[in-house]
Order: sequence, then C-alpha cells, then structure tokens
Amino acid sequence: MGAGENIVNPALVAALQTLTPTHDPFLKSLEAYAAEHRVPILQPESAQLLELLTAMKKPKHVLEIGTAIGYSAVRMAIAMGEGKITTIEKSPEMLELAKTTFENAKTNVVFEQLEGDAAEVLKHLKPSDLYDLVFIDAAKSHYKTYFDLVTPMLAPGALVISDNVLFRGLIADDQPVDKRFKTIAKNLKAYLAYLMAHEDFITSLVPIGDGFAVSLSRK
Ligand code: SAH
Ligand code: MG
Repeated sequence: MGAGENIVNPALVAALQTLTPTHDPFLKSLEAYAAEHRVPILQPESAQLLELLTAMKKPKHVLEIGTAIGYSAVRMAIAMGEGKITTIEKSPEMLELAKTTFENAKTNVVFEQLEGDAAEVLKHLKPSDLYDLVFIDAAKSHYKTYFDLVTPMLAPGALVISDNVLFRGLIADDQPVDKRFKTIAKNLKAYLAYLMAHEDFITSLVPIGDGFAVSLSRK
C-alpha cells in the first residue's frame, strides 16, 4: 500500500494521481528513479500543492530539510524561477544524487547543499540569513526540534510546510500502530498539537499524500 491510501480512500488517491500527471520528462525520470530505488519523494499530488504554495509565496530564499534526490527542491525551483534553495541532507549517497539532479535541472535557481544531521546543521546556519519558505521533510520524530530551530530565521510572513505529518494515518486513534512506528506516531501527534496551539502561526492540516501541515507566520 502506498502512503496516502490509509489517509484518503485508495480509489480517490488513484483518481487524484490520474488527474495530476507529470509531463516534464526530467521530473518523470526522477519519479521513476525514486520508485525503483524506494526513495520516499513527494507523491505527485503533494508535489503539485507544494508547487502551488511556492508560486503563491514567491520566496527568494527557501530552506529544505531532507533533500533525498532533489525532487521536491526542483519542484519548488520550477515555481520560483529564480532565487536560492538551501537544502540539508545527511546521506552522502543522496547528496551525490541530488547534486546531479541540480546540475541537470533547467532553472536559474541557485541550489546550496548542506551535509549532515539536520538539527546540527540548523544550529550552525548564519542567523542573518532569513527564509521565506521552509519545507520540512526529514526525520519525523524531530519535526518540533527543526521547527523551533527554524523559527528565529523566518522572514516576516514566512510559510513553513511539514510533510508526512499524518504518517500513513497512524496518528488516528483507531489505527493499530506497529511497535516500530509508535514513537514516530506519538511525536508527530505532539508536533501537530504544538503547531495548532502556536500563537505565532496559522496552521492548516491537509490530508494530501502522507499529510501536509501548512503554517503561515503571523509575524
Ligand atoms: N524532500 C524529498 C524527500 C525527502 S525523504 C522529496 O520529496 O523529493 C527524507 C530525506 O531526509 C532522506 O533522504 C533522508 O536521508 C533524510 N534525512 C533523514 N533524517 C535526516 C536527518 N536527521 N538529517 C538530515 N537528513 C535526514
Ligand atoms: Mg516526505
């Protein structure tokens, strides 16, 4: 079962995906690589929403946590046209793959790749750099840590988008949660409660793909 199908009914997920085909051959090749090598990139319908939100926000500087092969970064770059994307990844293998992706992407956006554990890398970012859009898509148990580290580096009215927050539907109380997923589900539930109660952000939880949280800074 693909992610999303335990969140929205499988037939509807299939319909959404049929209605959201990827035409760009370069993006298609990234999707094919990810499917073959089981890299958990955004599902097409989530990628489409990310592109839309990016186009609406028109960010100059994006921060991404969790690069993988660079698919979501390229989708944001397409919506930006120009500007800069700083993206963090801990896997050396993924870093290399993303480097090739960014070299082959036809865009004027500048990509900056940072290697290491996201929480550590975030602690060492230049505090003078401000981000208009942050996309969180890495270690699910640490989203609150990432969010709190990123908050002081947000430009006014910044958008923070967190992926996989509904985690295969496992944050719902009726779902039996496999032992190995218990901590993630518990931490994600706590993160969502924290986000919704955060007075400096207006947040909406969107059951698309594996679940988006879209948070707009009121400051
Ligand atoms: N955003 C990508 C998918 C990211 S998958 C896309 O949609 O195209 C999640 C990635 O986060 C993986 O490549 C994984 O190696 C990386 N990751 C997981 N934990 C991390 C951590 N603690 N620090 C940095 N990267 C991490
Ligand atoms: Mg994800």
